[in-house]
Amino acid sequence: MKYPDLDRLVPDYVKHFEAYIPSKPDDVLKRLFGCRYLYRLNNNENPLGPPPVAQSIIKRFPPHSASIYPSGDAYHLRYKLADRFGLNPEQFLVGNGANEVITFVIKAFCQEGDNIITADGTFAVYEWVAEFSGFEARLVPLKNFGFDDEGMLSHIDERTKILFVCNPNNPTGSYWSEDKLRNFLDKINGRQIVVVDEAYFEFVEKEDYPDSIKLLSEYPNLVVFRTFSKMYGLAGLRIGYLVGSLDVVNIIRRTCVVYSVNVLAQEAAFAAIDDQEHIFKTREMVKKGKDFLVKELDLLRLQYVNGEGNFIMIKLPMSDSLAYRKLMSKGIMVRTMTGFRFPNWIRVTIDKLEVMEAFIEALSKVLNTARIENQKKL
Ligand SMILES: *Cc1c(COP(=O)(O)O)cnc(C)c1O
Repeated sequence: MKYPDLDRLVPDYVKHFEAYIPSKPDDVLKRLFGCRYLYRLNNNENPLGPPPVAQSIIKRFPPHSASIYPSGDAYHLRYKLADRFGLNPEQFLVGNGANEVITFVIKAFCQEGDNIITADGTFAVYEWVAEFSGFEARLVPLKNFGFDDEGMLSHIDERTKILFVCNPNNPTGSYWSEDKLRNFLDKINGRQIVVVDEAYFEFVEKEDYPDSIKLLSEYPNLVVFRTFSKMYGLAGLRIGYLVGSLDVVNIIRRTCVVYSVNVLAQEAAFAAIDDQEHIFKTREMVKKGKDFLVKELDLLRLQYVNGEGNFIMIKLPMSDSLAYRKLMSKGIMVRTMTGFRFPNWIRVTIDKLEVMEAFIEALSKVLNTARIENQKKL
């Protein structure tokens, strides 16, 4: 059989795109780095797991149900969300993680020659989906570690379709206040779609932080993302959603893959949203972990950015990929930030206090050996 003519078959924008290689499974990593345990501080997961009600749904899941297709459009979950937020169930689209709803929005609004705008130091999936679909991603540099509203506005042209704002931003934790977001939306004045990704919404307790869903009635070009992966501890089941005005969501629905959200994810998410107690407990854990970390990082004289969300960004006096490998051999997995355009920085998920202690102990050792090696070189 003849080998496919990939040069002709593959679009240029796919040829030029480099595949993202996810980290290997824990068992493989443990063998590779020779560690007995592994603390995963790389993905902003919730170490408390899903809320207890969701845990019991998962435990009691009837195996036979696995043979039945789920609700194709997460019917019950959408009705519950609608009730919770006082909206129409048709204003919600549930996806296989918030990651999937990113693709729905870009497919719905972009065609050849169009562009999207976001920041350079943010969650990279907006940029990736745009680029491997053949659309330009205009990346506006962060300003003081936050999204630069004026900079984003100045990059808009007649082919700009969507602006993505990550609020609070992963990885810096900076956020736009309600005033700032309103001002931005006022200036856009309906000419583009504005997506506000609120993956860490439930972690933020700041008074001036906007609840964007409440702004939908005033700004029908606004689309809000939420996920069950972070606060609700359901990252492994892959479920998130978008919510917007009826007209906009009715368009996005056309590009949405039905049946992509499995039945267990739908049921666990349905149960999880009622558990306010779980949110309080998680916030408490994050607060304790951050207080401890900040104190220790000051002692180590390291620069860090401690914003909203269950993570913190730390600048190291060494390459982030080297630090990653050294920390891995001590059983700690962090996220290197070179890929987020922050060379020599790492992002660390906030975990229980004992895990944060283990992280600081490992980090101190790594920094000490690096210091000694540097001195030898001199
Ligand atoms: C984790 C994350 C998501 C994606 O979450 P899913 O697991 O796909 O629901 C989206 N945006 C940001 C900023 C995130 O950090």
